[in-house]
Amino acid sequence: MQRLRDLAVAVLNEYQLLSSEFGGYQRQTDLSCTNGCGACCNNPQVEASVLEMLPLALHLFDTGQAESYLEKMSESAGFACQLFARHSLDGSKGACTVYEWRPGICRMFGVAGYRTKTQYPTISVCSTIKSAHPEKYAATLIAITSSPPPMLANGRQRIAKIDYALGESLLPINQALFSALEKVLVMAAYSGVEEENVAA
Ligand code: SF4
Ligand code: SF4
Repeated sequence: MQRLRDLAVAVLNEYQLLSSEFGGYQRQTDLSCTNGCGACCNNPQVEASVLEMLPLALHLFDTGQAESYLEKMSESAGFACQLFARHSLDGSKGACTVYEWRPGICRMFGVAGYRTKTQYPTISVCSTIKSAHPEKYAATLIAITSSPPPMLANGRQRIAKIDYALGESLLPINQALFSALEKVLVMAAYSGVEEENVAA
């Protein structure tokens, strides 16, 4: 169990750096998410590794919610990330219910750098931000060489290298949390640690 806790601390440390780098670039370019938008969370195909979901799984275990979340995650793949609270019928508005514990991809998605096939750096900007701020998007593209964006692939790699066995494969987010919860509960059972009896 201690090994999982040590990994979670390392992942959370990396998350702090990623949030500051990617958030800093969003602020610098002024390409921010539109108010109340949750469109990217309204999708069960968001991909995360088991390692990325480990801090959340341990937090749920420590607060007595691991079993109930495991059940929730096993019910269905769902039409959205199961951690997303919809604030509109179509799911385009909403909020993350585990913001502090959200995985790496959720800290980097929105405005992130990547390399084209010819290795040229460019940016991937979500369609909502792009259509809300077309001029700022164009200006950011023009400034890409003088002001390079943080790269999504590097962020992914930095998390994965904390533990390749748990960090390299990507799964749909609900499955990734399910596996992380299973891992924590099995390890806790082996270590004789019981989930806290806290209401969800
Ligand atoms: S974990 Fe939170 S931010 Fe990430 S997809 Fe789910 S609801 Fe959205
Ligand atoms: S990244 Fe795009 S889709 Fe996701 S919340 Fe921000 S504006 Fe909405």
